Amino acid sequence: MGWAVANSVPSLTKRERAFVTWASVVPDVDGLGIVAERLTQHWAHPLDWWSDYHHVLGHNIGFALTVTIVATLFARHKMTMALLVFISFHLHLAADLVGARGPDGDQWPIPYLLPFSNKWQLTWSGQWALNAWPNFVITGALIAVAIWLARRRGFSPLELFSRTADSVFVHALRRRFPFDVAV
Ligand SMILES: [Zn+2]
Repeated sequence: MGWAVANSVPSLTKRERAFVTWASVVPDVDGLGIVAERLTQHWAHPLDWWSDYHHVLGHNIGFALTVTIVATLFARHKMTMALLVFISFHLHLAADLVGARGPDGDQWPIPYLLPFSNKWQLTWSGQWALNAWPNFVITGALIAVAIWLARRRGFSPLELFSRTADSVFVHALRRRFPFDVAV
């Protein structure tokens, strides 16, 4: 999703695209506590960092504003970037809200107003499970968009990791699909 948002404005630089894309992933850094929780699960006093902090620390307006400000500081197109990073981040929260119910039925309420208030604990009664079919359809559609964009614009999400891998991929795509499809 972040990649699609990052490509909605063609003039962004490679670094700006990376920021917008990572903004759609970064709320889940609060899930990294799973490592500590798993490692200490048999201790007398296990660290419950995943249970306590996942969907809390990173899934709120305070963190959204922090990420947006940091990204904007490093950006050339500041207003555009502020907007796109903010949107990208919130698409993650929206996706969690509508389609990320846990296998145990847990809805993972989103404490959106943190750290300013604990009042809102957002959930949606129609929320589907993380492994439900709509998520596969959405993922498939977004991958198709990313491939189409790569064929057309000459870069793909692989540029976030390796310039070489990216150009090999784009080259292969253009050889496989020599005719550009405009929409
Ligand atoms: Zn999340």
